[in-house]
Amino acid sequence: MTDHLNAAGALARRITRQVRIGKVKVGGGAPVVVQSMTNTDTADHIATAIQVAQLARAGSEMVRITVNNEESAAAVPRILEQLAKMNVEVPLVGDFHYNGHRLLTQFPECAEGLAKYRINPGNVGAGQKKDPQFAAIIELACKYDKPVRIGVNWGSLDQSVLARIMDANAQRAEPLDAGAVMREALVTSALESAAKAEEFGMARDRIILSAKVSSVQDLIAVYRMLAARSDYPLHLGLTEAGMGSKGIVASTAALAVLLQEGIGDTIRVSLTPEPGGARTQEVVVAQEILQSMGLRAFTPMVTACPGCGRTTSTFFQELAQSVQTYVRDKMPEWKTQYDGVENLTLAVMGCIVNGPGESKHANIGISLPGTGESPAAPVFVDGQKTVTLRGDNIANEFVAIIDDYVTTKYTRKG
Ligand code: SF4
Repeated sequence: MTDHLNAAGALARRITRQVRIGKVKVGGGAPVVVQSMTNTDTADHIATAIQVAQLARAGSEMVRITVNNEESAAAVPRILEQLAKMNVEVPLVGDFHYNGHRLLTQFPECAEGLAKYRINPGNVGAGQKKDPQFAAIIELACKYDKPVRIGVNWGSLDQSVLARIMDANAQRAEPLDAGAVMREALVTSALESAAKAEEFGMARDRIILSAKVSSVQDLIAVYRMLAARSDYPLHLGLTEAGMGSKGIVASTAALAVLLQEGIGDTIRVSLTPEPGGARTQEVVVAQEILQSMGLRAFTPMVTACPGCGRTTSTFFQELAQSVQTYVRDKMPEWKTQYDGVENLTLAVMGCIVNGPGESKHANIGISLPGTGESPAAPVFVDGQKTVTLRGDNIANEFVAIIDDYVTTKYTRKG
């Protein structure tokens, strides 16, 4: 691990070119960017604008929408108008498959309004049509001065590249296994498409690459190969990660390994929402991956113990949850008012065993009484015990201490 740490103990990032998407910088040493994607029908411009706004307010710094037909392409300028009315400024990325060349030609306001185009080389056209259709999208991207993501996916891998790599493999004295052939084909497809985009006139610093798979080990292997063979910024994401804890754990396992190695300039966590669940969860998870790794800070983090037989009450769980919800809800307001408030650390602990010690490590910590302990909850501020809370109003009093700390310790923005 120390191989990936610089002298200051910070993670050393892979050196890449920098791509600008509107005001957002990707690669070239910029902080890792969080992005997400809508799941509304893009043609429904109101529903899509509302979801884009929700994702942006949750912290998504770019939002991708599918542009799959004429109705969707026609809706793009209306989505942008609606976002402007809602005071939401976030780069919109268009996801194109099969007909991107046609839609971007027929709908110039769509081509102009989008901040970036995603092109999947496996879905750009078959046979003789592939190169001209790919060239047409690149020429439109150049005309409108838009960067592109060349986004390969193993579910839609360019079959002509796969066939060529398989043929070459068959000639080898020691052929690679099927998994290695697939990984090589993914990387080759991404790199050859990027080279072709440059041949067609796209500047090198307008290209981002991705090569998504749904297996953690394959994703790590593929991105290590891409990182070793190019200096394009990389968009990381485990495709089709799944639902609930499985999706979160698999995405985190894959992304954390790569980020620890300095690989990855923008991330998306592709969670399947639970029925009725919030689409914004994928943004929260992406932020928490980056914040847990110390790569970025977005919102104050609450350290809480898991609880055990020493604390039979659920009070500390409820307090930990209400504190986390409170600070997350307050962040949109705090971050416009105070510098550095996202670095605030909080601890909510269940008993005296680790409670005071962990609380002293946080900016503000509370050590609640375990079963059989005296019903008192000492509060620690910057390592010093400041007050002991008692009674039924502990939650409100603790939140008031957090508010007071934020207003007195962080500098007000000019
Ligand atoms: S701090 Fe106390 S309640 Fe929490 S896990 Fe440790 S021993 Fe159990």
